Amino acid sequence: MAGEKVFYVEDNPQNRRLVQVVLMAEDFEVITAENGEEGLKMAPEVKPDLVLMDINLPDIDGYEVTTRLRKLEMFQDIPILALTANAMATDAERALKAGCDGHIAKPIDVDTLPHQLRDWLKKGRKKPQS
Ligand code: MN
Repeated sequence: MAGEKVFYVEDNPQNRRLVQVVLMAEDFEVITAENGEEGLKMAPEVKPDLVLMDINLPDIDGYEVTTRLRKLEMFQDIPILALTANAMATDAERALKAGCDGHIAKPIDVDTLPHQLRDWLKKGRKKPQS
């Protein structure tokens, strides 16, 4: 697998840079948005294979952005992973309810991140049970 496109919505420039450097070194393509509004606007054009979604954003929070993305056809089958500093059970649960498939805790572990994303890309999205 090479060249998978990751769309990363994150307001913190250091985090954006870090993830970009780490993932690009592992042959991912990384496109970033700085806030929820920009994320929603860019997402359909980016057509990512996976979305990394910061939860604490200055405008629309990552839960809401995820819920809105899931309403779009092309975002129903790709993994969306929440990134949050508050790795509490309630946050993880809320992320799942919002439409995220999983949860990656901040600070980001740069050694495991590429492997985690590859696992998700292989596994694909957990279909919601109906
Ligand atoms: Mn943030």
